[in-house]
Amino acid sequence: MRALLIIDVQHDFLPGGSLAVTDGDSIIPVINGLQKNYDLVIATQDWHPADHGSFASQHPDINVFDQFDLYGLEQVAWPDHCIQNTEGADLSPLLNTQLVEAIFRKGTSKEIDSYSAFFDNGKKKSTGLTGYLRERDITELHLCGLAADYCVYFSALDSLEAGFQTAIISKATKAIDKTIYMDKKEHFLQLGGKIL
Ligand SMILES: [Zn+2]
Repeated sequence: MRALLIIDVQHDFLPGGSLAVTDGDSIIPVINGLQKNYDLVIATQDWHPADHGSFASQHPDINVFDQFDLYGLEQVAWPDHCIQNTEGADLSPLLNTQLVEAIFRKGTSKEIDSYSAFFDNGKKKSTGLTGYLRERDITELHLCGLAADYCVYFSALDSLEAGFQTAIISKATKAIDKTIYMDKKEHFLQLGGKIL
């Protein structure tokens, strides 16, 4: 059985949003077209409290996109984004969600960021996604959505590690930084992932 995981197609990651991915909206029709080809479709939402530790606004001496140490983990300082129960955190209304069986939320603990749909960045807390997929006899997971170089990539790595045949669908994802994504894509391929 094969599942499609749609990562973070939320206002703040789309043009006009606070952490917009260039041309991020161009992949939405592609994702809508893909969904019918899968046994299961699920999605994620980045879902931060307003004082989340990954936000540059919470650290007076740190600028947006700086690297810093957040409780022992390397962290990029992001602009405020995807704050719980705000419009920025809503899924795009252009995304077809009729086939989406479940939405997994991540980034809810303010002390730690969570790029992957499976675990926080320190792998301290699981979202339960691995068990959810196994109970539905999923053996193959395809990923799409935003952003290719962060949440899609780290979800794909965890999917491989959990033992799923894993692929990232190129035409249905976009990166914040294409150069960073090229390196990460290479790493993913070396670990046995596929790029479709
Ligand atoms: Zn976030």
